[in-house]
Amino acid sequence: MKNEAIYRKSAIFAKLSAGEPCLWRNPAFDPDPATLQDLPLSMTHVVEAEQRLQKFAPLLESLFPELAPSGGIIESRLLPAPDLKEKLPANGAKIDGKLWIKADHDLPVAGSVKARGGVYEVLCFAEELAVAHGLLVPGGDYRDLASPEARELFGKYTVSVGSTGNLGLSIGLIAAALGFQACVHMSVEAKQWKKDRLRRNGVHVIEHDDDYSRAVAAGRASAESDPCGYFVDDENSERLFSGYSVAALRLRQQLQQENVRVDEEHPLFVYLPCGVGGAPGGITFGLRHVFGSAVHCFFAEPVEAPCMLLTLASASEDDLSVYDVGLRVDTEADGLAVARASKFVAQMIQSSVSGVFTVKDERLFRDLYLLEKMEGIRIEPSAAAGFSGPELLCNDPEGRRYIEDHKLEKKMSQANHILWTTGGSFVPAEEYKKFHELGKKLQKQCNS
Ligand SMILES: *Cc1c(COP(=O)(O)O)cnc(C)c1O
Repeated sequence: MKNEAIYRKSAIFAKLSAGEPCLWRNPAFDPDPATLQDLPLSMTHVVEAEQRLQKFAPLLESLFPELAPSGGIIESRLLPAPDLKEKLPANGAKIDGKLWIKADHDLPVAGSVKARGGVYEVLCFAEELAVAHGLLVPGGDYRDLASPEARELFGKYTVSVGSTGNLGLSIGLIAAALGFQACVHMSVEAKQWKKDRLRRNGVHVIEHDDDYSRAVAAGRASAESDPCGYFVDDENSERLFSGYSVAALRLRQQLQQENVRVDEEHPLFVYLPCGVGGAPGGITFGLRHVFGSAVHCFFAEPVEAPCMLLTLASASEDDLSVYDVGLRVDTEADGLAVARASKFVAQMIQSSVSGVFTVKDERLFRDLYLLEKMEGIRIEPSAAAGFSGPELLCNDPEGRRYIEDHKLEKKMSQANHILWTTGGSFVPAEEYKKFHELGKKLQKQCNS
């Protein structure tokens, strides 16, 4: 058994080094939700986060006019995608079951999946300060946090974060809206427009000529030396993780509204783009609590940055980065351009994630273009990472093996697949045009 495990590990490392797309089944995946009981966070954290966000909703509605229709709740739509389902698979592959899009590219306030977690963590900090200074009493009105007294208090504190772009946008925009000083440490892949947008909102942007882990480390160090500093630690934050997890409660409600059943006879497959792991990890954690063994979560990473696959496949022992297997994080998927996964997240999801697959940049642009063509939706390249998931599951030998192992063969026609589109609504038109042109070219090549 041990030999087989070692063999499997070296085989997957060889595949990763070659930069070829692959699907990895997680040998530690345990469908039994009882495995969640030994973790440092529980369903209570998910529910608490949801309740806190409800209390803050009136405040958020007053700060962000775009939240008026939802009464201050930051949530995205669940959209059926039947036309995309027909066109999406390459090489004549087929997808069994129904296809959906969870439209986080359109999440208000931040335009990406980072909105739920990032906003939640800054709200936790604001609440903590306000309570400590007697500006908020239990059961009080959270709109008081927009009062001149509260803003003056928040203005003494600096909220900082390290980011490849979107987490910085989320944290920077909510922190600035509440009156905090905000400081974002951007890694080398961060897009210019993301930095520009933050600066226009009064956020201090520090550009690092280095990768994501280094940008985070720089942010952490400078916040530690500031007595009025608060650092949002993307690699270790329980608050971020809890904030992300509320998506599961919202998705359950949306599936019910669409009369979509999720149970042993109706499996739910969810495909989540993964960077350091927090967003897809928090969502997976929430979904496993909500749907138990009926949900199967797969993470998607660029072939050049499969950091979570590497960490999970090496059972976190070696603390490997993708540089160790000869990769360079050379990808246009800036949101996923991470060399080393979060160990905290890896531990939280080790037995909950069904598998991880990798995707080439060419495929990201082709899928981004197809989505626009078939469904009229515009996303950024990172957000297209999960799109090859359903066809890999239904056609690739590793995917077929997963279906067999979990006795899902007869249930696939009643399955639902959700592609999680994690970012894009803020992408400037001239920037999007480049994605579109490249995607169109690649789509033609794919068909010829
Ligand atoms: C950050 C991000 C992700 C992944 O989230 P992590 O918490 O880094 O794993 C996916 N898609 C987009 C667009 C992102 O910005």
